[in-house]
Amino acid sequence: MKALNWFHAFSGPFLGQETRVRRHTLLVLASLPTYLASLGMIWHLVHLGELTTPVAWGITLASIVTFLVFWLPVRAGLTQRMKDPVLTFPHALATLCLCVTAYVMLDEHRVNVLVLMAQVIVVAMLRLRPKQVLGLGVVATLMLCGAFAWVDWRDTSVGMLTKGVTHLMVGGASLLLLSLVGKWVSDIRTEISDQAKELRKTVLTVRQMATLDQLTGLLNRRVMLEGLEAERQLAERHGTQWCVALIDLDHFKQVNDRHGHPTGDAVLKGFADLARQHLRAVDQVGRWGGEEFLVLFPQTRLNEAHASLERLRKALNAWRLPDHPTLQMSFSAGLVQAEPEDTIDQVVERADKTMYQAKASGRNRSVWAPVLTPSLFGNPVPPPAFPA
Ligand code: GH3
Ligand code: MG
Ligand code: MG
Repeated sequence: MKALNWFHAFSGPFLGQETRVRRHTLLVLASLPTYLASLGMIWHLVHLGELTTPVAWGITLASIVTFLVFWLPVRAGLTQRMKDPVLTFPHALATLCLCVTAYVMLDEHRVNVLVLMAQVIVVAMLRLRPKQVLGLGVVATLMLCGAFAWVDWRDTSVGMLTKGVTHLMVGGASLLLLSLVGKWVSDIRTEISDQAKELRKTVLTVRQMATLDQLTGLLNRRVMLEGLEAERQLAERHGTQWCVALIDLDHFKQVNDRHGHPTGDAVLKGFADLARQHLRAVDQVGRWGGEEFLVLFPQTRLNEAHASLERLRKALNAWRLPDHPTLQMSFSAGLVQAEPEDTIDQVVERADKTMYQAKASGRNRSVWAPVLTPSLFGNPVPPPAFPA
């Protein structure tokens, strides 16, 4: 961890601090070996007396400027909103221009430049789209033809012509072949990336289908059961209190019968939205079946859970469907606090019985079952018998 911090601090000035910027800058820096190799070659030729110092300086300065032009904006994060924040295509194009210039200037040793041009295409093929790779290969070959024509026009000796033609045939054919391979690699890369995207989407859909209720988007019964079991185990270990409420919409069948099934569906969705808005983020709410919903209140005392339920009940009373302003909804809820020895089935069964008490005593209310085991803080005061 310490070594990582040290690396982060050291590389900060070169790569930046933000993760995405660092990753993109690192990709620009991947071109450094090609720059260094070409400059190494050029200054070695100066050392051997085969290249003049002004020419070497010219190529060196042009290389430094080209590198800075691409490194600085990426490092500053200015390219983050672009389609290719690494600027791969223009950078590869600029590097190829440099190579061709070097090809023209290097006389005897220009064949080495062909290898560097091939390097540029290989590095670029890992990021570019298939058509761009092919385009780059064609541009590189055309530039090589231009360079050859220029050299040939400057020096018409037979030797030069022969070497130039050889370079052109070997270099041009290699670059074209390389860009075809690059296109093929890039095609495969695009296909794999498309498949990965598709797979991620499918996994997300399957996960949603496996965990959420399709109509309301609330958790489904299976996930609620898992949540209940997890909370039971947590409470067993830490001795915390937790509550469960079973909510049933009142006279829901009448909504279907009078206004149609789609309106019934809209009511269920509306209730789900209200539950998401009015319950705390830690409370888990799921569709238990039909027009029944189950709420798990983790680490919550009965009176706190009751207050939440009442908030939700009043919100539902006040809620209206835009197309049916006279339709007023209510629910009856049975609320229980889990006892230490309870199984999940027992908790839910008691919540269900309590909910039926709420129905029997007139609906539109949240009723709680008496707590059997006294808590450390004393049991909560029972709520009023009728809703306020
Ligand atoms: P109570 O106040 O006693 O709960 O009466 P109720 O009419 O709400 O209860 P009942 O059990 O008689 O009716 C529930 C209705 O819910 C019956 C069923 O057709 C309807 N229902 C169940 N699932 C859906 C659904 O996904 N969409 C719609 N629109 N209706 C549903
Ligand atoms: Mg019901
Ligand atoms: Mg009902």
